[in-house]
Amino acid sequence: MADDQNLPNAGLFVNDNLVNVYNSRLKQLISDMGRDIVLTLQPLQVDCPNCGWDFTQGRSNNQYTSNASGDNFNKSFPTGTRCPVCQGVGKLIFQRTYDYKALVGFSPPPEEFNYTEYGITPDQVVRTKTTIETFRNMELAQYAKIQGVEYEKITQPRKTGLRDDLFVLVYWKRRHS
Ligand SMILES: [Zn+2]
Repeated sequence: MADDQNLPNAGLFVNDNLVNVYNSRLKQLISDMGRDIVLTLQPLQVDCPNCGWDFTQGRSNNQYTSNASGDNFNKSFPTGTRCPVCQGVGKLIFQRTYDYKALVGFSPPPEEFNYTEYGITPDQVVRTKTTIETFRNMELAQYAKIQGVEYEKITQPRKTGLRDDLFVLVYWKRRHS
């Protein structure tokens, strides 16, 4: 196995120490220099816990049936009147937003992003780089507000990093220019 000595050694130039320095510096950079972004996920829709469902009408059956605990979701009301929790809709909708720090790159170079494929121009596109903890919500997000401007997700999040995948790249397109 003497030939092993002639094999290129990937660890020779990128050793563990360098990887650790890179990862911790980049995390620090995101935290210190990152801009605020707000992710908007698809709203969560659940059955109203305070009333029954009218399958014919596709809405509340106007009958108090609550087993929910907590005053906000348990309000008795006379049968036949509008449920005060869901206003008769029969469903509750929860908006979901998350605040993160991200390194934001405006108009990424064409070597990095295939503008032709998406039929858009560089001035409409931004790239965000965040820490790996954001990955799941980046997958679920539809929109992001970056410096007060609304963007729509155009690529699924990609894990990235030096040796270990500790960061997340996503590309966004500005909504209605
Ligand atoms: Zn209800």
